[in-house]
Amino acid sequence: AGFTVAIVGRPNVGKSTFFNRMLEQRKAIVDDVSGVTRDRQYGVADWNGKTFNVIDTGGFVANSDDVFETEIRKQVKIAMQEANLLIFMCDVTTGITDLDSEVADLLRRSSKPVFLVVNKVDNNERRLEATEFYGLGFEHVFFLSSMTGSGTGELLDDVVAKI
Ligand code: GDP
Ligand code: MG
Repeated sequence: AGFTVAIVGRPNVGKSTFFNRMLEQRKAIVDDVSGVTRDRQYGVADWNGKTFNVIDTGGFVANSDDVFETEIRKQVKIAMQEANLLIFMCDVTTGITDLDSEVADLLRRSSKPVFLVVNKVDNNERRLEATEFYGLGFEHVFFLSSMTGSGTGELLDDVVAKI
């Protein structure tokens, strides 16, 4: 029960780093769910007095590019069902990749709000580079450094505004 936010995106964009940072605010318990859901982590976060569930997708090991894409597709579809809001994370250091575009295509079909989060925006130079991500066509775009924490407050303000 409750409002659920899922973080999706291809590997290495920083989903788990951001997930852990969100949970730090509260020292929440992260269930290490076994079995079919072992590729997802569940946690509880709170911000400005509002509590919500967070799902970190991924964690799987890809054997080939095909498996890779199938897995990401599967995770995004599950997240679209389970979550009330989707955080679509990308990485400014790689720019928009083909996989990002595929995930974007899936998410555009969602009736739920999607926040595009460009991560690893650690400095002003990267902030300039990150403007290319407006090209993915999402209404809500955030620039974040999960490493330094820069931009996370603005994002969380807008997340809890949807609760
Ligand atoms: P995931 O596969 O999407 O869960 O990505 P991870 O959270 O495992 O992060 C992948 C790599 O990116 C790790 O080496 C992180 O330390 C690094 N990383 C995550 N966030 C940032 C960030 O904001 N800036 C930089 N420079 N590196 C980051
Ligand atoms: Mg991860």
